[in-house]
Amino acid sequence: MGLDWLRDHSDPRVADALTRSCGICKAAPGEDCRHPWQGSDPLDRIVHVERCGELR
Ligand SMILES: [Zn+2]
Repeated sequence: MGLDWLRDHSDPRVADALTRSCGICKAAPGEDCRHPWQGSDPLDRIVHVERCGELR
């Protein structure tokens, strides 16, 4: 199961996720997700998969 689409800004699931805030990292609507912990490696995706409503 690939999650490469989580790194694609043109994917509709990513665009949809960006319309709401993220419950994991508290990113505001329109903001890319970030690591919830300071000092971690950069996030390898634009949004957390949990932010994509259709996967809940
Ligand atoms: Zn997030």
